[in-house]
Amino acid sequence: MDNQSSSKPLKILIVAAEVVPFAKVGGLADVAGALPIALRDMGHDVRVAMPKYGRIDNAKFNLKPIIEPFAVPMDGHSVDVDILEGSIAEHVPVYFIHNEHYFDREGIYSYPDDDERFILFCRAAVEMLKKLNWQPDIIHCNDWQTAIIPNWLKTIYKDDPFFAHTASLYTIHNLAYQGVFGQRVLEIAGIAEHGFVYPQIQDLAGVVDLMGRGILYADAINTVSETYAQEILTPEFGEKLDPLLRERQDRLFGILNGIDTELMNPKTDSYIAANFDAMNLEARAANKADLQKEGNLDPRPDVPVIGLISRLANQKGFDIMAPVMDSLLNLLDVQFVLLGTGDQYYHEMFGKLAAHYPGKAAVFLTFNASLAQKIYAGSDIFLMPSRFEPCGLGQMIAMRYGSIPAVRSTGGLADTVHDFSPTTGEGNGFAFTPYEPMALYATLVRALENYRYKDTWRKLQTRDMSADYSWDNSARKYVDVYRKAMSFQAQQ
Ligand code: ADP
Repeated sequence: MDNQSSSKPLKILIVAAEVVPFAKVGGLADVAGALPIALRDMGHDVRVAMPKYGRIDNAKFNLKPIIEPFAVPMDGHSVDVDILEGSIAEHVPVYFIHNEHYFDREGIYSYPDDDERFILFCRAAVEMLKKLNWQPDIIHCNDWQTAIIPNWLKTIYKDDPFFAHTASLYTIHNLAYQGVFGQRVLEIAGIAEHGFVYPQIQDLAGVVDLMGRGILYADAINTVSETYAQEILTPEFGEKLDPLLRERQDRLFGILNGIDTELMNPKTDSYIAANFDAMNLEARAANKADLQKEGNLDPRPDVPVIGLISRLANQKGFDIMAPVMDSLLNLLDVQFVLLGTGDQYYHEMFGKLAAHYPGKAAVFLTFNASLAQKIYAGSDIFLMPSRFEPCGLGQMIAMRYGSIPAVRSTGGLADTVHDFSPTTGEGNGFAFTPYEPMALYATLVRALENYRYKDTWRKLQTRDMSADYSWDNSARKYVDVYRKAMSFQAQQ
C-alpha cells in the first residue's frame, strides 16, 4: 500500500443494533458509541446506522427525517422505511432506520420476528447509502444482528458498481449469541438461491447461523482482544464456530476495547466521595471509608477491601469462588464488596454470604452505576475470576481508579493484567491460569501479602493509574484493520 492510500481519510459506516447514548444492552453499545468519536478525531468521515426503537425519544435527541420514505426489498416483497438523522457528537451523524411495525416496540431484542427485524434494518442501511449517494470504503458490522451485510456484499450486491470498492469488517463482541434461525431466513434475506454454506459443521448443517455467515463472508474479522482472538480458534472457546474461524484465521484480528477515560476519571468523577489522582493517592482513603459506610462494613482503614462488579453469570467465575469464600472471610483479615445482578442462584449464594459475615462482606444485588464508581474508587483489589472474557472493562476501570486487579488470565484479562513479581518488580496485578478454586485463593493470598508492603502497593497503583486504555489506541488499530479489509476486498 502506498503512503498516500495509507494516510487517506476513510469513509466508514458503523452498523450496530445498540449505540450509546440511544440504546444499550451490553458492551457493543459502548463500542459503537465511543469508537466513532475517536475515528472522527483522527480525521475520518464516520457515520453510524442503528434501528429507531420505540424507546428512543425523537425530541430528546433532536432526530430529523432526512430522506423520503423508501421501499426496501424483503422476503419477496417490499417494506417502507424512513430515515431520521441524529448525532453522537459533532460531525458524527447517526442514521436511525425506522419502520413502525418492526421497531416501535419497547424492547430491543427477544421478539419472535428478530430475524425479520434485523434483516430489514440491515437491508435498509445498505439501500440508504445509495439514496444518500455516500459510498463508504468500509462497512463495519457488529454481532449477529448485522452479520448478513458481508454475506450480501458477496452475493446480491457483488456486481453492483455502487459497492465495487466497499469492504466489510465483522466484529464479534459476543460469540455466544449467534443469531441461529431456520432456513426461511434465507428467503427473508433474499439469498435462498445461495443455500447453506457450512454443511461441514454438523451442528450448523440444517440451520442458518448469521454470525457464521458474517465470519465466512466479511473481508476481515475481529474480536475484542488479542488473546480471545486466539482462544476462539479452539473448541473450548469457539462455541462451535471454531472450524469456520480457523478457516479464516489469516483475516482474524484482536483489538482491545477502550474505556471512556473522560467519564471514568477519579480526578473528576462526581459519584465518588473524594477525587484523587496518582499524585494524590492519600485522598483515596476517604473513598474506602465511604464504601465501608455504604456497605455497613467495619470502618477500618487498614483492612484490604476486595471489590467485584459483574453480571452474575456462569461466565464470570462464581463457581470457583463459591468453595473458597468461607476460607477467605474466616481465615484472612479482609473485606469483600460485591455489586451485581443476574442468575437467581448467585443472588441466593451471595445473599447468604452477606448475612453470614456482617461487617466483613457487603452484597448489593442491583444495577447501580454510581455505586460501581464508589467500589472502583474505594476497593484495594478488584476481582475478575472469569471462565472466559472477550475483553472485560472492569479491570481497566479498576486500574484507572487505583484498585489492583486480581484476575484469571483469559481473553482480554490476559492482555491487560500481568502478574506482579516482587522479585523483578514487573507486572500490574495478580493473575492465575488454572480455572480452579485453589488457584484463585492462592492469588488472592498473594495479593493480600503484597498489600502489606505499602511502597510496593503504591508503585503498583501509580503504574496502573497511568496506563493508557483510551479509545484513541484502539481506534488506530481499527483503522489498520479497515485498511487490511480493503486490501483483501481489492484482491478479489
Ligand atoms: P460484560 O460486558 O461481560 O458484562 P465487562 O467487564 O466488559 O463485562 O463490562 C461490564 C461493565 O458493566 C463494567 O463497566 C461494570 O462496571 C458494569 N457493571 C456490571 N454490573 C454492574 C452493576 N450491577 N451495576 C453497575 N455497573 C455494572
